[in-house]
Formats: sequence, C-alpha cells, structure tokens
Amino acid sequence: MSVESNVDPVEIDKFQSIASRWWDRESEFKPLHEINPLRVSYIERQAQGLEDKCILDIGCGGGILAEALAQKGARVTGIDMAELSLKVARMHLHESALEIDYQLSTVEAFAEDNEAQFDIVTCLEMLEHVPDPASIITSASKLLKPGGVLFLSTINRNPKSFALAILGAEYILRMLPRGTHEYKKFIKPSEMAAQLRACGMKISDISGMIYNPLSGNYSLGRDIDVNYLMTARFDD
Ligand code: SAH
Repeated sequence: MSVESNVDPVEIDKFQSIASRWWDRESEFKPLHEINPLRVSYIERQAQGLEDKCILDIGCGGGILAEALAQKGARVTGIDMAELSLKVARMHLHESALEIDYQLSTVEAFAEDNEAQFDIVTCLEMLEHVPDPASIITSASKLLKPGGVLFLSTINRNPKSFALAILGAEYILRMLPRGTHEYKKFIKPSEMAAQLRACGMKISDISGMIYNPLSGNYSLGRDIDVNYLMTARFDD
C-alpha cells in the first residue's frame, strides 16, 4: 500500500473541522483531556522516566499528549496529517512555553529519514482512523533506537466495545460526535500483537483504560475489552 493511500481524507477532515477546539476541555476533545494524565503516567512508568528521552508522537493532533510529555522533560517531535491541527498545536506552544517540533508527515515518510532516532514512539487513539494500521506499526518500530519502547492505544473489536464505544459514547452519553468511530476499524489486541511480533517486538504490557459512566472517571486496569494501551519493546 502506498503512503498516500494510508491516510483517509475523510478522517483527516473530521479532525480538521473541529481543530480550533483541541484545547477546549469541554469540547469533543474532553475525553482525550481526561485520559491524558492517566496515559502519561502509564508511559512514564513503563519507560522508566521521561526526562531527556527523545519521543516521537504519531497522530499528535493539537498536542495534548505531546505537551504533557514535554512537560516531563522529554524532547518531543509530533507528526500528524492535519495541517490545521498542527497550526493549533504550534500556537499553543506560546501559551505553554514548551518546545516541540511539529511536522506535517505520514509516519511512513518520516521513518524513511529518521530510522532508529527515538527512545520512545507513541501512537495513541489513531490506529482506528487509518486504512492500514499494520503499516503504521511497522514504520513506528523502525523509528525506535535499539532498546526503544513503543506505546499504542486503540479500541478492541467485540460486541461490548460496539455497545460502549459507539452506542454508549456517541449515541447515549454523547461524549463524542456521531461517526467518530467505525466498528470495523477497531483492532483486537491479538491482531496488534501479531503485527508487533512480525516487527521483532514483544509486548511487555497491555492495560485497559476503563470509563466509569457513574463517576465520570477513567482508570487503568485489567479489563481490555474496550479501550486499551499496549507497550512493546525489541526482543533482546
Ligand atoms: N494522539 C492524539 C490525537 C488522537 S486523534 C491523542 O491521543 O490525544 C487522531 C489523530 O490522528 C488526529 O489528529 C488525526 O489528524 C490523526 N491522523 C489520522 N490519520 C492519520 C495518518 N494517517 N497519519 C497521521 N496522522 C493521522
């Protein structure tokens, strides 16, 4: 599959049309703001610290994750294919006084020029929006230095994830706009793991990210039926 065809213009437009609201914590991006502290502490723990680590954030959007990682002392590069989101991300650096290198690039093209450059690569909540997630994972693994750590997150594919992530989040609780997610693009942990192994990586952790609709809180746990985070490293 060519690099261009691994970007779905409909998906990019979905994000571009709401790009001005990336930093509005009450907007469509509220769930990402709410899970952010949880996933940053997960990454920090699994990577054994973030200070001075060289990190690439794939599908960085307006920079919610990228900024939080930079705040922890990491040197962060963010890539995305939505120019408007990158503009918002760059503007927001004036407010946060952080330094992040934001670039418009596909991960496949970026991996051609930056092989083995990063201690950590993150690709969170993006794989369920691309035509060929396996190609993203392969390129992400090429970008890692030996000993590097890869973090992926997405949504599992089963009747429960359909009920909670689509019916619950988009239709009942209205946490996300209708049409944000497509069931057939969800990815089972076993499919993700198979692709990581094909890249010579091994999975060192899988954790669920669980939403409690009663309290409105998120927590990390063993239930990976809906949202999950995965850590992968090179076999050594
Ligand atoms: N990773 C961020 C944003 C998730 S939203 C976070 O978790 O906070 C998904 C992002 O992926 C959007 O910013 C969208 O523009 C981007 N995206 C979708 N397809 C992409 C592709 N093929 N290459 C790069 N970015 C892509």
